[in-house]
Amino acid sequence: MIRVPVRLRRTIDESHDIRIGRGLGPRISVDLRRRSLARRFVVITDQNLAARHGRRLLGALRRRGLAADILVIPAGEASKTRRVRDRLEDRLIDLGADRSTALVALGGGVVGDLTGFVAATFHRGIPFVQVPTTLVGMVDSAIGGKTGINHRHGKNLIGAYHAPAAVYIDIDYLRTLPPRQFRAGLAEVVKCGVVADPDLFETLERWPDRVLRREPDLLSRVIEACCRIKARVVSEDPRESGRRTILNFGHTIGHALETLSRYRIAHGEAVALGMVAEARIAAKAGLGTATLVPRLAGLLAALGLPTAIPARYAPAAILEVARRDKKARGGRIACALPVRLGAMAQVAGDYRIPVDDALVAGVLRAAPRTRPTP
Ligand code: NAD
Repeated sequence: MIRVPVRLRRTIDESHDIRIGRGLGPRISVDLRRRSLARRFVVITDQNLAARHGRRLLGALRRRGLAADILVIPAGEASKTRRVRDRLEDRLIDLGADRSTALVALGGGVVGDLTGFVAATFHRGIPFVQVPTTLVGMVDSAIGGKTGINHRHGKNLIGAYHAPAAVYIDIDYLRTLPPRQFRAGLAEVVKCGVVADPDLFETLERWPDRVLRREPDLLSRVIEACCRIKARVVSEDPRESGRRTILNFGHTIGHALETLSRYRIAHGEAVALGMVAEARIAAKAGLGTATLVPRLAGLLAALGLPTAIPARYAPAAILEVARRDKKARGGRIACALPVRLGAMAQVAGDYRIPVDDALVAGVLRAAPRTRPTP
């Protein structure tokens, strides 16, 4: 047998900046022009955003002399599919897009994840930029380069790591965001505070009403804090093999609730419920302080998020779904657990901590429940 070695060692520098401000449309076009990222741009957005925000961004790009088009997908999670991806690729080819094209993801996590995934494979990879319009997008999904689509067997089962060339966060987009979507983002903001930033958590505790009124200066500071945390964690661990796991706090129980409720419990609400449950698990397991639980529940409630799991979801059912989670270890539930505000537990160097079913079931049984169904 003849052996021909193929030595392929790739070092990729995907460093980029996140820019945060207001009324950024014109600045984005100036920046993109200056950077010569591509010869033409295709803005991808959803039906709720196309008429108002999409057209405006397209106009700003064209006024700077950039060749730009827009493609519109249906709004909502149902668009993160192979069918919609296929259609986008067909439309890009019809438009004559090629390696010198860059995509602009204007929207929430759905548009961002789908656009990033198309960019990762179109012509074997073209640049894309993120212009998040939801709070979830601004503090979470637009940062870190995880892209992907869903499969009927699960969320984000098909995807790629493909970092954006830039992220432009325009706080003004939040003015039109529906309240439930805004609160979903706040759950992720609270998570950032718990896992890495006590000051952020205390800022939210001090001014929940100002946050809910969406005061731009305060939001800008809060979003910047989250971006710094996610940027730091992702830089340390781009492929989620270590510290990036801390960002899953609240998501093990949260995902189980989302799945069990068939998505009637929204993601942000599920993460809020999951965080309270997992903080209780941390305390019960002797890893975390019990004083975090009432503080966390108090803040979430002040921000209009739920803290008590509806009684209709039995602990056994939650456990069963959580055991099937991607993060489970050999059939055991695994969670990222807080030690105290700003510090996450590590066991044998791992932030993904397996917990016993009996402990989780005990915590879920003992926790307050709500009667009304979501
Ligand atoms: P989304 O993209 O579905 O947006 C929510 C809704 O708000 C949509 O109907 C959208 O049209 C509308 N909307 C968006 N911006 C608006 C605005 N400014 N004004 C009015 N309406 C607006 O939801 P999302 O919460 O942003 O993202 C959820 C998705 O993100 C999920 O698919 C999740 O898997 C993904 N996600 C990815 C990552 C990652 O690291 N890649 C992280 C977290 C979440």
